[in-house]
Amino acid sequence: MHVPMHDYQAEYRTLKAEIDGAVQRVLERGRPDWGPEGPAFEEELGRLAGLRHMVGANSGMAALKIALLALGIGPGDEVITVPNSDIASTSAIHHVGAKAVWVDIEADTFNMDPALVEAAITPRTKALLPVHLYGHPADMPALAEIAQRHNLLMVEDACLALGATVNGQPLGTWSQAVAYSHAPSKQLGALGTAGSVGTNDPAVAERLQLFAGYGQRRQRSYLVERWRDPGLDLLVEGVNERLDEVQAAILRAKLPHVPAWIEKRRADAHAYTAAFRGTAVTPPVERPGCRHTYRNYVVRVPQRDEVLRRLAHAGVSSAILYAPPLHVQPVYAHLGYRRGSFPVSEATCDDLLCLPIGPFLSEGERAYVIETLLAITHAL
Ligand SMILES: *Cc1c(COP(=O)(O)O)cnc(C)c1O
Repeated sequence: MHVPMHDYQAEYRTLKAEIDGAVQRVLERGRPDWGPEGPAFEEELGRLAGLRHMVGANSGMAALKIALLALGIGPGDEVITVPNSDIASTSAIHHVGAKAVWVDIEADTFNMDPALVEAAITPRTKALLPVHLYGHPADMPALAEIAQRHNLLMVEDACLALGATVNGQPLGTWSQAVAYSHAPSKQLGALGTAGSVGTNDPAVAERLQLFAGYGQRRQRSYLVERWRDPGLDLLVEGVNERLDEVQAAILRAKLPHVPAWIEKRRADAHAYTAAFRGTAVTPPVERPGCRHTYRNYVVRVPQRDEVLRRLAHAGVSSAILYAPPLHVQPVYAHLGYRRGSFPVSEATCDDLLCLPIGPFLSEGERAYVIETLLAITHAL
């Protein structure tokens, strides 16, 4: 048996008619730019994510940058985030000219530890940027309370957490903006690169739209081919990191399936967790009040690298994602951190392992992963 981390071919086979139809619709419309697919996707995604406004972007990294730009964060500002994430969580802050300040995480959720945030706040701190890693929401009520007390903005990196909630409330409830990635391996993936950024604040939404598309009012772009072209208003220096029409159409084809796909991820996770309880394999937590959407199912195992090797030998793909942490990566060597700077991030990164999960993992494959992993850890 071979169990992949993601079975893209199975996904395409299942959705072939809808995806082919979506691409064809864009090709035949003759409106390759500023067409109707982007706004339609934004409305549908807003409904799915429980937010009033969504703006398409061409990656999760772009979504984070657009959010920071729209909130006026730039040179001279500090933004507090975590070292155990995709580099985009940190590099987006640097790309807008601000400075990222890392704080360590909670060992059980892998997310920003609210108890460590206040010690990192300086007079220059402008915002918090928590990450909902692997699909488990960060402690938003606690972080929002800190942000409010110190008059800070908040941008959420929900690139791995579409559909996650805290106390039944969607992500974006506690912050000014929340960024999603639609990279192919995320809960809602494009066939290439795509992202989105959401908010419940209409004034922020307008600025997100401006910054995503050159700084020009978008309504004008949608009317540009009509006789009553209202003329070009350039209001801010934006970027051109919009969602394109083909990806928007493909995402619209997949979007109706996302709730069932998330339920399948949760069912896989619960089956794994039941099987691993009381063994050498430590399952992930799902905190009370939190809805984890399991982009990754992350266990902690002794002799992790050897376990990964033996799993691969038995045909089971697994992965070490968002590890080692950013502060020990060559790109940030000049910042002067080393091992020991963020001990919880380091310890989790040393023994975590992501197992196959998701809509196209069969029950037989899931059972094989459990049986194989338990046999390997017993034998070590
Ligand atoms: C994937 C990801 C990003 C970046 O998204 P892209 O679409 O790849 O640019 C940012 N943050 C986290 C936590 C991610 O997983």
